[in-house]
Amino acid sequence: VNWFPVELHCHTKHSDGDFSPAELIEQAKIFGLKGIALTDHNTVAGWEETCSCAEKAGICVLPGVEWTTYFGHMLVLQQKDCGGWMDLQPDRIDAATADLRARGGTIGAAHPFEPGNPVGTGCHWDFSVRHWENFHYYEVMNGENPMEKVRNRKSLLAWTSLLDHGYRLTPTSGIDWHSQLNKEFSYACTYVGVPEKDCTAQGMNHAILSGRTSLTMGPLLTMEVCRESQCGGIGDVCPNGRYTFLLHLDPRRAEHWRHLDLQPREVRLVTNGGRVLFQSPCGECKLESSVMLDVQTSWCRAELWGVVRDRESLIAMTAPIYFSQT
Ligand SMILES: [Zn+2]
Ligand SMILES: [Zn+2]
Repeated sequence: VNWFPVELHCHTKHSDGDFSPAELIEQAKIFGLKGIALTDHNTVAGWEETCSCAEKAGICVLPGVEWTTYFGHMLVLQQKDCGGWMDLQPDRIDAATADLRARGGTIGAAHPFEPGNPVGTGCHWDFSVRHWENFHYYEVMNGENPMEKVRNRKSLLAWTSLLDHGYRLTPTSGIDWHSQLNKEFSYACTYVGVPEKDCTAQGMNHAILSGRTSLTMGPLLTMEVCRESQCGGIGDVCPNGRYTFLLHLDPRRAEHWRHLDLQPREVRLVTNGGRVLFQSPCGECKLESSVMLDVQTSWCRAELWGVVRDRESLIAMTAPIYFSQT
């Protein structure tokens, strides 16, 4: 698997962003990204221009839309028909997501704990979702300085609870990119795991559908499990049992986060209920660690904790490896 840094939540002048499509692509390149998802509010007007600018710049684009309603914002990738947002009432969300999913859309909940009225009308997630299995991903980190915000910590807890209930939702981050980045701030990026050697829109989409993501404000954190000759990676489903966990930290893209004076302190393996299964001090941005553990729970993710912008914080987190009894 090759890991590529991407930004999955971007706006242009076609909705309320400051950037033209060409400027967005240029900014993505400056920020060291290999791909973006274009998610303007309720419009696909920017798709063509963004895709043609991106192709010249060697950046992949996943075309999408942020369905923007009074009851919450929903990210839908790979689906051009975005007219349905107007009929989206809180109790009609399940029918809408079932329909979008049947038509090949990739569906994510955007910033679910963003304040609603009067701060941002409709930003808060008020949909009564009964069928979370219709969703593919959940935006756990949104905006600048993501882990300094209570709303993102709430998203992390809510997503953890969905995992506990058996929903395999892929975690993503989104700058929710509207304007120039601030060099004083931290921003997360989503690494997508792609089997091919190049990043493509199809590869990005497939990574989200397969649960192969790792979110970070700094180094890339990955994990693998092995026993005898069987190995599994992020997003895979493995039988319960005793495994050697391999944790790996890679300081790539350091020029984009060096200003944060980021200090990794501890790696953790976290499982059902947010329980810490294993923790180990870690003092550098390079780590190769292995530990043998007996897993009798249904998921396990790796987390990197430390100091970011002088605060104790989650720095990076992988999507889970899932475990099952059979
Ligand atoms: Zn939004
Ligand atoms: Zn947005």
